Amino acid sequence: MSRRKKKKHLSKLLFIVLIFILGFFAYQNLFKNNIIEVIKQEYNIYSKIDGYNKELLSRYKSYNSLFPNLEIEDIVKGVNLDLDKYNLEFDDNINNFSKDTYYKKDNIDRYLAYQDDNNELDHHEIIRRVNSNLDKEFYVDYVNTDLSKGLLMIANKFYYLGDYEPDDLITIPSEYGGNSLKASEITVNAYINMYNAIKEETNLKLKVNSAYRSYQRQKTLYNDYVNRNGIEWADKWSAKPGFSEHQTGLALDITTSSATFDNFEDTEAYDWLVDNCYKYGFILRYPSDDYYLTGYNFESWHFRYVGVDVATKIYNEKITFEEYYEYYVK
Ligand SMILES: [Zn+2]
Repeated sequence: MSRRKKKKHLSKLLFIVLIFILGFFAYQNLFKNNIIEVIKQEYNIYSKIDGYNKELLSRYKSYNSLFPNLEIEDIVKGVNLDLDKYNLEFDDNINNFSKDTYYKKDNIDRYLAYQDDNNELDHHEIIRRVNSNLDKEFYVDYVNTDLSKGLLMIANKFYYLGDYEPDDLITIPSEYGGNSLKASEITVNAYINMYNAIKEETNLKLKVNSAYRSYQRQKTLYNDYVNRNGIEWADKWSAKPGFSEHQTGLALDITTSSATFDNFEDTEAYDWLVDNCYKYGFILRYPSDDYYLTGYNFESWHFRYVGVDVATKIYNEKITFEEYYEYYVK
């Protein structure tokens, strides 16, 4: 072998060794950086979008194939709002709904249907009404009340108590205007605190006109109303048996001894209760301008115990118990 040939041979060998060394380092580096993940990320166009959730990647992909004309950003927003579950295309209208404080993902198809029939209403109003179930029919589309919610159980024209009976009823003491009526213990104690507070501040004495009413009692009452004033009047002012909040033991009809139901709203006691009842855990249950949300006309006398924290939140947010329940409790 010539010297020249030997040299050529050696450089070939060196070259191969160099490739091996480089290859070895490159190989190590690939695994260090988890190259497969890096490549995947590079090709995941959704991952750069605000709000991207890697758990939803397969849903982004199928939503994208369902609506190929949507921007990638709107694909991510749409799936994050669960629109793929309803085969709905993300658009400005849905975007406006989704920005509302009380927007519920599960209700989007109902918001849109309600909007179709009531297009004079703004997004916020539609959300308030649908969240309060006003797209459903009173006493027809009802479900059983979830009694496990305890103090926050709801009874209205969409939630049925059946023959539920509270197990902690006590008599409201007569020295607190109790009229021998009964309510749940926690409600009675909160009422007594409120009674003492208003008496101390204004010298007014509250009186309870109605408190716990059993299923049977409500049945008699409702049937009397129907016989006297007709079913339409009865449904507006009274509840069908099993649907009355009085059956929970958490509701009190409060006035003073000098006022009637009709003029109670013009009294100092009413003003005081509206401003202060939340401090004792009560809410004005059927407020005047929200009668359509609760299913009842304004009742200046009907107060419901929900506990101080919830009552304060409802007072501050100026919402009804229907809205509170559907958004925060259910
Ligand atoms: Zn009442």
